[in-house]
Amino acid sequence: MSETTTPPPADVMIRLDTVHKRYSGQSGDAVAPLSMDIRAGEFVVFVGPSGCGKTTTLRMINRMVEPSGGRIWIDGKDVTKVDVDDLRRHIGYVIQQVGLIPHMTVAANIGLVPRLLGWDKARTESRVDELLDLVGLEPAQFRTRYPKQLSGGQQQRIGVARALAADPPVMLMDEPFGAIDPITRGRLQEEFLDLQRRIRKTIVFVTHDIDEALKLGDRVAVFSEGSRLAQFASPLEILTNPADDYVRSFVGSGAAIRRLALLRVGDLDSADAEPAAGNGLRVSADETLYSVLERMLQDGVDSAVVSGESTADDRTFTLRDLLSAGSAGKVRP
Ligand code: ADP
Ligand code: MG
Repeated sequence: MSETTTPPPADVMIRLDTVHKRYSGQSGDAVAPLSMDIRAGEFVVFVGPSGCGKTTTLRMINRMVEPSGGRIWIDGKDVTKVDVDDLRRHIGYVIQQVGLIPHMTVAANIGLVPRLLGWDKARTESRVDELLDLVGLEPAQFRTRYPKQLSGGQQQRIGVARALAADPPVMLMDEPFGAIDPITRGRLQEEFLDLQRRIRKTIVFVTHDIDEALKLGDRVAVFSEGSRLAQFASPLEILTNPADDYVRSFVGSGAAIRRLALLRVGDLDSADAEPAAGNGLRVSADETLYSVLERMLQDGVDSAVVSGESTADDRTFTLRDLLSAGSAGKVRP
Protein backbone atom coordinates (compact mmCIF):
# COMPACT_ATOMS: atom_id res chain seq x y z
CA MET A 1 0.00 0.00 0.00
CA SER A 2 1.26 3.43 -0.91
CA GLU A 3 2.08 5.74 2.01
CA THR A 4 1.03 8.74 0.02
CA THR A 5 -2.71 7.99 0.05
CA THR A 6 -4.52 11.15 1.09
CA PRO A 7 -7.22 11.03 3.75
CA PRO A 8 -10.87 11.27 2.68
CA PRO A 9 -12.75 14.61 2.83
CA ALA A 10 -13.90 15.84 6.25
CA ASP A 11 -17.57 14.86 5.81
CA VAL A 12 -16.60 11.21 5.37
CA MET A 13 -16.56 9.49 8.77
CA ILE A 14 -15.74 5.98 7.58
CA ARG A 15 -13.94 5.07 4.36
CA LEU A 16 -13.39 1.46 3.36
CA ASP A 17 -10.75 1.39 0.67
CA THR A 18 -10.47 -2.02 -1.06
CA VAL A 19 -10.70 -3.73 2.32
CA HIS A 20 -10.73 -7.50 2.11
CA LYS A 21 -10.49 -10.53 4.33
CA ARG A 22 -9.45 -14.10 3.79
CA TYR A 23 -9.52 -16.22 6.94
CA SER A 24 -6.55 -18.54 7.32
CA GLY A 25 -7.13 -21.97 5.86
CA GLN A 26 -9.92 -20.70 3.56
CA SER A 27 -9.60 -20.82 -0.21
CA GLY A 28 -11.83 -17.84 -0.97
CA ASP A 29 -12.32 -14.33 0.39
CA ALA A 30 -14.85 -13.91 3.22
CA VAL A 31 -14.94 -10.29 2.07
CA ALA A 32 -13.77 -9.49 -1.45
CA PRO A 33 -12.19 -6.04 -1.97
CA LEU A 34 -14.82 -3.56 -0.83
CA SER A 35 -14.83 0.22 -1.03
CA MET A 36 -17.38 2.66 0.32
CA ASP A 37 -17.68 6.03 2.03
CA ILE A 38 -19.99 6.59 4.98
CA ARG A 39 -20.71 10.20 5.85
CA ALA A 40 -20.65 11.67 9.36
CA GLY A 41 -24.08 11.32 10.98
CA GLU A 42 -25.25 8.80 8.43
CA PHE A 43 -27.18 5.62 9.35
CA VAL A 44 -25.97 2.93 6.98
CA VAL A 45 -27.42 -0.58 6.97
CA PHE A 46 -25.64 -3.63 5.55
CA VAL A 47 -28.16 -6.20 4.41
CA GLY A 48 -27.67 -9.54 2.70
CA PRO A 49 -28.03 -13.29 3.15
CA SER A 50 -26.19 -15.19 5.87
CA GLY A 51 -22.51 -15.75 5.12
CA CYS A 52 -22.09 -12.84 2.70
CA GLY A 53 -19.51 -11.13 4.93
CA LYS A 54 -21.53 -8.48 6.82
CA THR A 55 -20.19 -9.32 10.28
CA THR A 56 -16.63 -9.70 9.01
CA THR A 57 -16.82 -6.25 7.37
CA LEU A 58 -18.28 -4.67 10.51
CA ARG A 59 -15.62 -6.25 12.70
CA MET A 60 -12.85 -5.03 10.43
CA ILE A 61 -13.99 -1.46 11.12
CA ASN A 62 -12.99 -1.76 14.81
CA ARG A 63 -10.33 -4.38 14.03
CA MET A 64 -11.89 -7.21 15.97
CA VAL A 65 -11.03 -8.87 12.67
CA GLU A 66 -7.75 -7.76 11.10
CA PRO A 67 -8.14 -6.98 7.38
CA SER A 68 -6.01 -9.03 4.98
CA GLY A 69 -5.50 -5.87 2.97
CA GLY A 70 -6.84 -2.47 2.06
CA ARG A 71 -7.34 0.52 4.30
CA ILE A 72 -9.94 1.81 6.70
CA TRP A 73 -10.21 5.47 7.59
CA ILE A 74 -12.24 6.74 10.52
CA ASP A 75 -12.58 10.45 11.14
CA GLY A 76 -9.57 11.23 8.99
CA LYS A 77 -7.29 8.60 10.55
CA ASP A 78 -5.98 5.42 8.95
CA VAL A 79 -7.12 3.02 11.69
CA THR A 80 -5.07 0.15 10.37
CA LYS A 81 -2.23 1.96 12.16
CA VAL A 82 -3.71 3.08 15.49
CA ASP A 83 -3.75 1.31 18.85
CA VAL A 84 -6.58 -1.23 18.88
CA ASP A 85 -7.77 -0.62 22.47
CA ASP A 86 -7.89 3.10 21.89
CA LEU A 87 -9.80 2.58 18.64
CA ARG A 88 -12.45 0.35 20.26
CA ARG A 89 -13.12 2.84 23.04
CA HIS A 90 -14.09 5.35 20.38
CA ILE A 91 -16.47 2.99 18.64
CA GLY A 92 -19.68 1.74 20.28
CA TYR A 93 -20.45 -1.89 19.51
CA VAL A 94 -23.81 -3.61 19.94
CA ILE A 95 -24.49 -7.26 19.15
CA GLN A 96 -27.50 -9.54 19.11
CA GLN A 97 -26.29 -11.49 22.15
CA VAL A 98 -25.99 -8.14 24.02
CA GLY A 99 -23.07 -9.50 26.09
CA LEU A 100 -24.00 -7.85 29.39
CA ILE A 101 -21.84 -9.12 32.25
CA PRO A 102 -24.24 -11.18 34.39
CA HIS A 103 -22.78 -10.53 37.84
CA MET A 104 -22.62 -6.77 37.31
CA THR A 105 -25.51 -4.35 37.80
CA VAL A 106 -26.97 -2.37 34.93
CA ALA A 107 -25.09 0.71 36.15
CA ALA A 108 -21.78 -1.17 36.28
CA ASN A 109 -22.36 -2.62 32.81
CA ILE A 110 -23.11 0.78 31.29
CA GLY A 111 -20.22 2.41 33.16
CA LEU A 112 -17.67 -0.09 31.87
CA VAL A 113 -16.01 2.06 29.21
CA PRO A 114 -16.14 5.34 31.21
CA ARG A 115 -14.31 3.51 34.03
CA LEU A 116 -11.71 2.23 31.58
CA LEU A 117 -11.28 5.81 30.40
CA GLY A 118 -10.63 6.87 34.00
CA TRP A 119 -13.77 8.95 34.60
CA ASP A 120 -14.46 9.64 38.27
CA LYS A 121 -17.38 8.02 40.09
CA ALA A 122 -19.70 11.02 40.07
CA ARG A 123 -19.26 11.69 36.37
CA THR A 124 -19.79 8.00 35.52
CA GLU A 125 -22.93 7.79 37.69
CA SER A 126 -24.51 10.85 36.17
CA ARG A 127 -23.68 9.59 32.67
CA VAL A 128 -25.30 6.23 33.49
CA ASP A 129 -28.51 7.92 34.60
CA GLU A 130 -28.52 10.18 31.55
CA LEU A 131 -28.16 7.13 29.28
CA LEU A 132 -30.89 5.17 31.06
CA ASP A 133 -33.19 8.13 30.45
CA LEU A 134 -32.08 8.30 26.85
CA VAL A 135 -33.01 4.65 26.18
CA GLY A 136 -36.32 5.03 28.00
CA LEU A 137 -35.60 3.20 31.26
CA GLU A 138 -36.26 4.88 34.62
CA PRO A 139 -32.80 5.23 36.27
CA ALA A 140 -34.00 4.74 39.87
CA GLN A 141 -35.75 1.54 38.88
CA PHE A 142 -33.11 0.01 36.65
CA ARG A 143 -29.61 1.04 37.72
CA THR A 144 -29.28 -1.57 40.47
CA ARG A 145 -30.83 -4.48 38.57
CA TYR A 146 -28.89 -7.42 37.19
CA PRO A 147 -29.15 -8.47 33.54
CA LYS A 148 -31.25 -11.56 34.33
CA GLN A 149 -33.89 -9.29 35.89
CA LEU A 150 -34.52 -7.64 32.52
CA SER A 151 -36.62 -8.59 29.49
CA GLY A 152 -34.90 -9.16 26.16
CA GLY A 153 -35.93 -5.72 24.94
CA GLN A 154 -34.66 -4.05 28.12
CA GLN A 155 -31.34 -5.90 27.86
CA GLN A 156 -30.98 -4.69 24.30
CA ARG A 157 -31.64 -1.09 25.42
CA ILE A 158 -28.91 -1.48 28.05
CA GLY A 159 -26.62 -2.80 25.30
CA VAL A 160 -27.28 0.38 23.32
CA ALA A 161 -26.75 2.57 26.41
CA ARG A 162 -23.45 0.83 27.13
CA ALA A 163 -22.25 1.37 23.56
CA LEU A 164 -23.13 5.07 23.83
CA ALA A 165 -21.50 5.53 27.24
CA ALA A 166 -18.34 7.36 26.20
CA ASP A 167 -20.23 9.24 23.46
CA PRO A 168 -18.37 7.59 20.57
CA PRO A 169 -18.82 9.19 17.15
CA VAL A 170 -19.30 5.78 15.54
CA MET A 171 -21.65 2.91 16.44
CA LEU A 172 -21.40 -0.57 14.97
CA MET A 173 -24.48 -2.73 15.44
CA ASP A 174 -24.63 -6.39 14.44
CA GLU A 175 -28.23 -7.65 14.22
CA PRO A 176 -28.96 -5.98 17.57
CA PHE A 177 -32.70 -6.64 17.44
CA GLY A 178 -32.42 -10.09 15.83
CA ALA A 179 -33.37 -12.15 18.88
CA ILE A 180 -36.30 -9.98 19.97
CA ASP A 181 -39.99 -10.79 19.36
CA PRO A 182 -41.50 -8.91 16.39
CA ILE A 183 -43.61 -6.47 18.41
CA THR A 184 -40.84 -5.41 20.78
CA ARG A 185 -38.51 -5.33 17.82
CA GLY A 186 -40.73 -2.87 15.94
CA ARG A 187 -40.84 -0.68 19.03
CA LEU A 188 -37.06 -0.82 19.51
CA GLN A 189 -36.60 0.17 15.87
CA GLU A 190 -38.86 3.22 16.29
CA GLU A 191 -37.16 4.23 19.53
CA PHE A 192 -33.75 3.82 18.00
CA LEU A 193 -34.68 5.99 15.01
CA ASP A 194 -35.92 8.65 17.43
CA LEU A 195 -32.73 8.41 19.42
CA GLN A 196 -30.60 8.71 16.29
CA ARG A 197 -32.44 11.89 15.25
CA ARG A 198 -31.25 13.40 18.53
CA ILE A 199 -27.71 12.03 18.79
CA ARG A 200 -26.70 11.88 15.10
CA LYS A 201 -24.06 9.16 15.39
CA THR A 202 -22.46 7.58 12.40
CA ILE A 203 -24.00 4.12 12.48
CA VAL A 204 -23.23 0.93 10.60
CA PHE A 205 -26.00 -1.55 11.27
CA VAL A 206 -26.08 -5.15 10.05
CA THR A 207 -29.24 -7.14 9.40
CA HIS A 208 -30.45 -9.92 7.12
CA ASP A 209 -33.96 -8.43 7.18
CA ILE A 210 -34.64 -6.17 4.20
CA ASP A 211 -37.67 -4.58 5.89
CA GLU A 212 -35.56 -3.57 8.87
CA ALA A 213 -32.90 -2.20 6.50
CA LEU A 214 -35.37 -0.10 4.50
CA LYS A 215 -37.02 1.20 7.66
CA LEU A 216 -33.84 2.29 9.43
CA GLY A 217 -31.21 3.19 6.88
CA ASP A 218 -30.42 6.60 5.40
CA ARG A 219 -28.61 4.40 2.90
CA VAL A 220 -28.69 0.65 2.52
CA ALA A 221 -25.85 -1.51 1.21
CA VAL A 222 -27.31 -4.65 -0.36
CA PHE A 223 -24.75 -7.47 -0.42
CA SER A 224 -24.93 -10.75 -2.27
CA GLU A 225 -22.89 -13.91 -1.75
CA GLY A 226 -19.14 -13.33 -1.75
CA SER A 227 -19.67 -9.81 -0.37
CA ARG A 228 -20.46 -8.34 -3.76
CA LEU A 229 -21.94 -4.89 -3.14
CA ALA A 230 -25.01 -5.06 -5.38
CA GLN A 231 -26.37 -1.61 -4.53
CA PHE A 232 -25.60 1.17 -2.05
CA ALA A 233 -28.38 3.75 -2.12
CA SER A 234 -31.30 5.27 -0.22
CA PRO A 235 -34.27 2.98 0.58
CA LEU A 236 -36.44 4.92 -1.87
CA GLU A 237 -33.86 4.55 -4.63
CA ILE A 238 -33.52 0.81 -3.97
CA LEU A 239 -37.28 0.36 -4.14
CA THR A 240 -37.69 2.61 -7.17
CA ASN A 241 -34.60 1.65 -9.17
CA PRO A 242 -33.20 -1.71 -8.05
CA ALA A 243 -29.72 -2.03 -9.55
CA ASP A 244 -30.22 -5.55 -10.88
CA ASP A 245 -32.34 -8.70 -10.68
CA TYR A 246 -30.57 -9.78 -7.50
CA VAL A 247 -31.63 -6.61 -5.66
CA ARG A 248 -35.12 -6.84 -7.15
CA SER A 249 -35.60 -10.37 -5.86
CA PHE A 250 -33.96 -9.62 -2.50
CA VAL A 251 -36.37 -6.73 -1.94
CA GLY A 252 -39.19 -9.05 -2.93
CA SER A 253 -42.74 -8.21 -3.81
CA GLY A 254 -44.68 -5.16 -2.78
CA ALA A 255 -42.10 -2.51 -3.66
CA ALA A 256 -44.85 0.02 -4.45
CA ILE A 257 -46.60 -0.51 -1.13
CA ARG A 258 -43.31 -0.22 0.73
CA ARG A 259 -42.55 3.04 -1.03
CA LEU A 260 -45.76 4.43 0.41
CA ALA A 261 -44.31 3.98 3.88
CA LEU A 262 -41.22 6.00 2.94
CA LEU A 263 -42.89 8.95 1.21
CA ARG A 264 -44.38 11.84 3.16
CA VAL A 265 -47.39 13.71 1.86
CA GLY A 266 -45.52 16.98 2.35
CA ASP A 267 -43.04 15.83 -0.31
CA LEU A 268 -45.69 15.28 -2.96
CA ASP A 269 -45.64 17.51 -5.98
CA SER A 270 -48.60 19.77 -5.26
CA ALA A 271 -48.54 21.56 -8.64
CA ASP A 272 -51.60 19.70 -9.93
CA ALA A 273 -53.39 19.35 -6.62
CA GLU A 274 -56.55 21.34 -5.97
CA PRO A 275 -56.59 24.10 -3.36
CA ALA A 276 -58.48 22.71 -0.38
CA ALA A 277 -62.23 23.11 -0.29
CA GLY A 278 -64.58 21.94 2.44
CA ASN A 279 -63.46 20.05 5.49
CA GLY A 280 -62.36 16.60 4.45
CA LEU A 281 -59.87 14.39 6.20
CA ARG A 282 -57.06 16.64 7.40
CA VAL A 283 -53.54 15.26 7.53
CA SER A 284 -50.19 16.78 8.35
CA ALA A 285 -47.35 17.14 5.88
CA ASP A 286 -45.05 14.75 7.75
CA GLU A 287 -47.45 11.78 7.58
CA THR A 288 -46.46 8.96 5.27
CA LEU A 289 -48.58 8.13 2.24
CA TYR A 290 -49.14 4.74 3.83
CA SER A 291 -50.66 6.22 6.97
CA VAL A 292 -52.78 8.69 4.99
CA LEU A 293 -54.13 5.93 2.73
CA GLU A 294 -54.93 3.86 5.78
CA ARG A 295 -56.90 6.75 7.32
CA MET A 296 -58.73 7.42 4.04
CA LEU A 297 -59.79 3.79 3.88
CA GLN A 298 -60.87 3.83 7.52
CA ASP A 299 -62.93 6.99 7.03
CA GLY A 300 -64.27 5.85 3.67
CA VAL A 301 -63.20 9.08 1.92
CA ASP A 302 -61.33 9.45 -1.35
CA SER A 303 -59.43 12.67 -0.68
CA ALA A 304 -57.38 14.28 2.08
CA VAL A 305 -56.40 17.85 2.86
CA VAL A 306 -52.71 18.40 3.53
CA SER A 307 -52.12 21.41 5.73
CA GLY A 308 -49.79 23.99 4.21
CA GLU A 309 -47.92 26.89 5.82
CA SER A 310 -51.14 28.89 5.73
CA THR A 311 -54.74 28.00 4.84
CA ALA A 312 -54.17 29.27 1.30
CA ASP A 313 -51.46 26.62 0.90
CA ASP A 314 -53.72 23.73 1.96
CA ARG A 315 -54.03 21.20 -0.85
CA THR A 316 -56.45 18.39 -1.54
CA PHE A 317 -54.99 15.11 -2.71
CA THR A 318 -57.18 12.35 -4.07
CA LEU A 319 -56.73 8.64 -3.55
CA ARG A 320 -55.55 8.45 -7.16
CA ASP A 321 -52.89 11.18 -6.58
CA LEU A 322 -51.50 9.25 -3.63
CA LEU A 323 -51.48 5.88 -5.37
CA SER A 324 -49.81 7.19 -8.48
CA ALA A 325 -47.16 8.98 -6.40
CA GLY A 326 -46.49 5.69 -4.59
CA SER A 327 -46.12 3.62 -7.71
CA ALA A 328 -44.01 6.15 -9.62
CA GLY A 329 -42.01 7.30 -6.62
CA LYS A 330 -42.95 10.76 -7.87
CA VAL A 331 -41.98 13.43 -5.39
CA ARG A 332 -40.99 17.04 -5.54
CA PRO A 333 -37.41 17.26 -6.91
P1 ADP B 1 -22.54 -12.70 7.65
O1 ADP B 1 -22.36 -11.86 8.87
O2 ADP B 1 -22.96 -11.95 6.45
O3 ADP B 1 -23.48 -13.86 7.91
P2 ADP B 1 -19.77 -13.49 8.07
O4 ADP B 1 -18.96 -12.27 7.93
O5 ADP B 1 -20.04 -13.99 9.43
O6 ADP B 1 -21.13 -13.34 7.24
O7 ADP B 1 -19.04 -14.66 7.26
C1 ADP B 1 -18.53 -14.49 5.96
C2 ADP B 1 -17.79 -15.76 5.54
O8 ADP B 1 -16.61 -15.91 6.33
C3 ADP B 1 -18.61 -17.03 5.74
O9 ADP B 1 -18.31 -17.91 4.69
C4 ADP B 1 -18.09 -17.56 7.06
O10 ADP B 1 -18.22 -18.95 7.13
C5 ADP B 1 -16.64 -17.14 7.04
N1 ADP B 1 -16.11 -16.90 8.39
C6 ADP B 1 -16.62 -16.03 9.30
N2 ADP B 1 -15.87 -16.01 10.44
C7 ADP B 1 -14.86 -16.90 10.23
C8 ADP B 1 -13.74 -17.32 11.00
N3 ADP B 1 -13.51 -16.82 12.24
N4 ADP B 1 -12.90 -18.23 10.45
C9 ADP B 1 -13.11 -18.72 9.22
N5 ADP B 1 -14.14 -18.35 8.43
C10 ADP B 1 -15.01 -17.45 8.91
MG1 MG C 1 -23.32 -11.95 10.76
